[in-house]
Amino acid sequence: MLLCDFHIHTTYSDGSVELRRTVDLFGQAGFDVIAITDHVVNGDSSFGKLAHRFRYSINERNFSTYIGAIREESMRARDKYGMLVIPGVEISKNYLSAEKSAHILLIDVKEFIPACWSYEKIFLAAKEQDALIVACHPHHSSEPLSRDTLYLWNNRDKYAKYIDAWEIANRDDVFNVISLKKFPYVANSDFHRTRHIYSWKTLLNCEKTVKSVKQCIRHNRGVAITLFRN
Ligand code: ZN
Ligand code: ZN
Repeated sequence: MLLCDFHIHTTYSDGSVELRRTVDLFGQAGFDVIAITDHVVNGDSSFGKLAHRFRYSINERNFSTYIGAIREESMRARDKYGMLVIPGVEISKNYLSAEKSAHILLIDVKEFIPACWSYEKIFLAAKEQDALIVACHPHHSSEPLSRDTLYLWNNRDKYAKYIDAWEIANRDDVFNVISLKKFPYVANSDFHRTRHIYSWKTLLNCEKTVKSVKQCIRHNRGVAITLFRN
């Protein structure tokens, strides 16, 4: 099966490891498929404005540079490690209230999508680009410094139809509500620093191409999770 991690941050947003070094880290650890998913933060809240001020967000101006850099790394990773690197973003809707907040991975994204758009507009734009849509850390998290993002789970009756998969595990957390609802699932590191490589991961039984990976997750057959440790 393919060892995969679809939730990885770099210095393009709030990660501490540069893109090239991140790719080398995962390549040397024997990964088959990774997605680089730096934050696109909403500008319509005080949190969001701060993120933009400190350059913790991809924006419309640097989006093509960011995607171009990932595509270049993708070619290098294929030759050097036989690893597939997919460009993505994490749409980050941050508000004071956890009930209002949500994070969404768009994997194999091609055009910039602003995080201040409505959920419906974001999902439809992502579908038009054939990007894979993943609801991130959808329930209460144990990370002391992270803030809960509960909007999509609390509004799952309305939005589940747009979501290709939910994070059943994120870094050290497992969200058993996802399995109770029998939702399609993946597991990711939410990598921000080197030690986060040791965390929950996805295993896929499919070919190592972007098309097969997206199809396998959407059908959610031949998907497993594993705790990757040193
Ligand atoms: Zn997040
Ligand atoms: Zn993240």
